[in-house]
Amino acid sequence: MLLNGLSDTSGREAVRVGRDALSYAELRSAAGAVASRVAGAGRVAVWAESTLETCVAVVGALSAGVPVVPINPKAGTRELQHILSDSSPELIFGGPDGIPVDLRAAGELPASEPDEDAPAIVIYTSGTTGPPKGVVLPRRAIASNLDALSDAWDWTGDDVVAHGLPLFHVHGLILGVLGPLRLGGGVWHLGRFSSEAAGAALAGRATMLFGVPTMYHRLAADLEASPSLAAAVGSARLLVSGSAALPAADHARIAAACGLLPVERYGMSETLMNTAIRADGDRRPGTVGLPLDGVSVRLVDDSGAELDVSDDETVGEIQVRGPNLFLEYLNRPDATAEALRDGWFATGDVATRAQDGYIRIVGRRATDLIKSGGYKIGAGEIENALNEHPAVAESAVTGEPDDDLGQRIVAWVVVEEGAARPSEKELADHVAGLLTPHKRPREVRYLDALPRNALGKVTKAKLGS
Ligand code: ATP
Ligand code: MG
Repeated sequence: MLLNGLSDTSGREAVRVGRDALSYAELRSAAGAVASRVAGAGRVAVWAESTLETCVAVVGALSAGVPVVPINPKAGTRELQHILSDSSPELIFGGPDGIPVDLRAAGELPASEPDEDAPAIVIYTSGTTGPPKGVVLPRRAIASNLDALSDAWDWTGDDVVAHGLPLFHVHGLILGVLGPLRLGGGVWHLGRFSSEAAGAALAGRATMLFGVPTMYHRLAADLEASPSLAAAVGSARLLVSGSAALPAADHARIAAACGLLPVERYGMSETLMNTAIRADGDRRPGTVGLPLDGVSVRLVDDSGAELDVSDDETVGEIQVRGPNLFLEYLNRPDATAEALRDGWFATGDVATRAQDGYIRIVGRRATDLIKSGGYKIGAGEIENALNEHPAVAESAVTGEPDDDLGQRIVAWVVVEEGAARPSEKELADHVAGLLTPHKRPREVRYLDALPRNALGKVTKAKLGS
């Protein structure tokens, strides 16, 4: 069964959102009613607010074997139109015009499970590099990936996962809701993320925290200011970060304040998770650990040839193969064929590999690999260095066209509140001192905030030159 926990009869809590919660028995009844309502439909959409209703609708559709499309309730009109016309759902649950979900409905879940190759969920990508693409995920990918994560993190039905992640992407929905429900454990959604809410959950039943770097960045500052928060967060079994790179400086601050180093995992809509730092593994900040059980990861050069090096220096594109892969991009056979070749998925991310296999993400091939003066330079490394400067709150680095260098390194910097703005030269010297002279930014542009999408990822395409 995809969601094994649903057979629980002990009365334990399955999902909590803020103050409201459903036991496994209550979830079964409410989701059972949704399952009978959707039976036979081609596809259904769920207006994925961070609510119990969203969890019930998704579990109901999944149990009925009807592919479900979670929709970002804050999507702008253009994105919403794109997703609705692309996925053409027969029914929509939740939202202003959708079918309301009744939490107290008395229904029964269907007895039989759909085939494991059947499409289960269509997740739209974050749209960091272009319009969101509908990623069709089979049940097998979800089940096998959750099992691999359970193995990596010693994650069991005794764990309760706290998070404040949106429920229309892989991180919040598949890892943060379906993960606990497969294991028979608990979900504790914070409603909206705040450090206080995370601390309260971890001081209570929650054992793990899932978050994105913007949340951990905020948490780092709040932990430093509050010893009681640090004690609560420090009592967690595991702090997990993903969706984008967690700056090394934040890893260090969190560890110093609460005694726990977060573990990072690396994945995406098309592949779910590919690598992770294991619970009992070496927590090396700036790395995303080792390939998960059953997942093959290789690095290839520009011509697509496999790079047979493990030196933590040579950069290649990450390709992935395994039971975790998606079936196709909805209505995009061209994009599917381009990305999936001989069973390998080309991620578009570039990375290095150390001798012991640890993967270090450099960034995205399209925007984060800067070719300047004959060097290939990863933006992430320079961003990490900039973030270590005390007056830098956050930064993004891009390569802008340059007649001499091919591309020149440009740093986009948000200055820490209350700090004096460091000069361009000071920041460039800071980077050159920590890294090497050819990695110094040639230009610094100061911003009030970096442009980000719903998961807090920096949308570099919006940092026009
Ligand atoms: P789009 O594909 O529409 O441009 P997107 O790639 O941001 O958007 P997702 O599938 O939600 O959409 O995100 C996956 C990407 O997030 C990965 O390809 C990778 O670039 C990034 N990512 C995820 N986890 C990490 C991590 N731990 N460190 C660095 N980058 C990460
Ligand atoms: Mg992508």
